[in-house]
Amino acid sequence: MTPVKEILAEMQNPSAEDIKLIEKAYAFSQKAHEGVTRYSGEPYFIHPAAVAKILAQMGMDAATVAAGLLHDAIEDAKATEEEVQKEFGDEVLFLVDGVTKLGKHKYRGAERHAESLRRLLVATSADIRVLIVKLADRFHNMTTLAHVPEHKQKRIALETLEIYAPIADRLGMGRIRRELEDLAFPAIDPDAYQHALEVRKLKTKETEVGLKKVQREIQEALAKQGIKDFRTDVRMKGLWSLHQKLKRKGDDITLIYDMAALRIIVPTVADCYAALGLIHSLHKPLPGGFKDYISVPKPSSGYQSLHTTVVTDGAGIVEIQIRTKEMHQQAEFGIASHGSYKLLGPAATQGAVRNMSLPWIQNLIPNLLNFTKKAPGKEAPANVPRWITELAEAHAGNTGSTEFVEGLKSDFFSHRIFVFTPRGDVIDLPIGSTPIDFAYAIHSDLGDHMNGAKVNGKLVSFDTTIENGDVVEIITRESARPTAKWLDVAVTSMARRHIRGALELSERRLPSAPMKVDTRVLRKKASKEGKKKKGKG
Ligand code: MN
Repeated sequence: MTPVKEILAEMQNPSAEDIKLIEKAYAFSQKAHEGVTRYSGEPYFIHPAAVAKILAQMGMDAATVAAGLLHDAIEDAKATEEEVQKEFGDEVLFLVDGVTKLGKHKYRGAERHAESLRRLLVATSADIRVLIVKLADRFHNMTTLAHVPEHKQKRIALETLEIYAPIADRLGMGRIRRELEDLAFPAIDPDAYQHALEVRKLKTKETEVGLKKVQREIQEALAKQGIKDFRTDVRMKGLWSLHQKLKRKGDDITLIYDMAALRIIVPTVADCYAALGLIHSLHKPLPGGFKDYISVPKPSSGYQSLHTTVVTDGAGIVEIQIRTKEMHQQAEFGIASHGSYKLLGPAATQGAVRNMSLPWIQNLIPNLLNFTKKAPGKEAPANVPRWITELAEAHAGNTGSTEFVEGLKSDFFSHRIFVFTPRGDVIDLPIGSTPIDFAYAIHSDLGDHMNGAKVNGKLVSFDTTIENGDVVEIITRESARPTAKWLDVAVTSMARRHIRGALELSERRLPSAPMKVDTRVLRKKASKEGKKKKGKG
């Protein structure tokens, strides 16, 4: 069990008030989960306590750590929203509520839904801290995946790989991404996992001694150069990422040069380049193996580092990564580092994400406008990562301009809706969709035998327009069949295609249907199709 002291010890300068909040949330959660056990047979409270510790390690604020402690208290334990609100206030309740809601969206393996689910999770998080709690929650759950019933393991692992690891990546949280991937890997493909494990062992053995020598040489050279406050460590390539690379390289392990990378963390940017020069004077760089992500950060995540690949005597080809402490923190924890998620302050929280930054997220968040309105001429705080200030600057010039507003309008969200199955699966559809479109989006059989539909528990007619967030349930009957009228109601091409197919099939199958009827239907259909085509052109 994680004692409350361990959580507090990980936090960065908690105030007396912070400490009180965490201690209170700890006691509250422990009591709320009392008597409940996890699949592993351990007390349930182990889980929220571990999640809180992970959040503290990431450098999250007290409200978020408290939310980590309480994140399952409403859903899985005896606590009510009113109690959490009364004991911990609106902010903590808001975060706990957000995490609870996110838990309802489940991914069931349809590739075409992965991206929309990722976007949905981000959009509905409303506060980036909700998403970070969810990532910490998933991370801890993945460490105990082996205890979960086998039939559930694969779905959870796949969801982790397809949804949560990419979200962590796009939030710049490299360490969480890597660990989520490697925890999911064995459940996804046990054989490939074993293979990657063996390849890594073999490669490590090959280079271990040599790498230690290279590390020592560089340490000595850096110290001689007068760079004192530095750190070096060896990072091993993640197994999932190794697996991907092996696939790309036709399983040729001699082509894997970055199995072990030597990481050098120095105080300043100038030290980074000094260290690079030193290393290149000791070891010959491999042509094309040098990348300056300091002057040109990775656009997707803002990642910064110098990468060079050198040829050494003892360890063969070695990748070396050089960065400052801040860059390291940023690479490992991304948006959670430096407290940069706090940037926008409570004023911007109203109904939107506090701090949205990366290109794909930025479009989703109209409230970024609030931030940029205040931003011009104002110096950003010193510890704000560059990509955030750049983003603010980029929008400062055209805040409220038609260009920017049009950009938001044309965004994915403005012409798609997200609706749910009664089990919580997410289906995304174009605006104006009806229950018929919904049914066919799930399965053609469901559409072909649809006999009724419920939206949010109420029976509705087939031509009802479904709205964002609706829960739609399709009622089927074996003998039910599509009618020609459905074509007027369906908006998705997928539904229309299936309906046409089903209509033709039933015409052919009807033994008593005279030729006359068939031609009439066909003629009517043909003229309608013709009209449609004309209308389009
Ligand atoms: Mn949980």
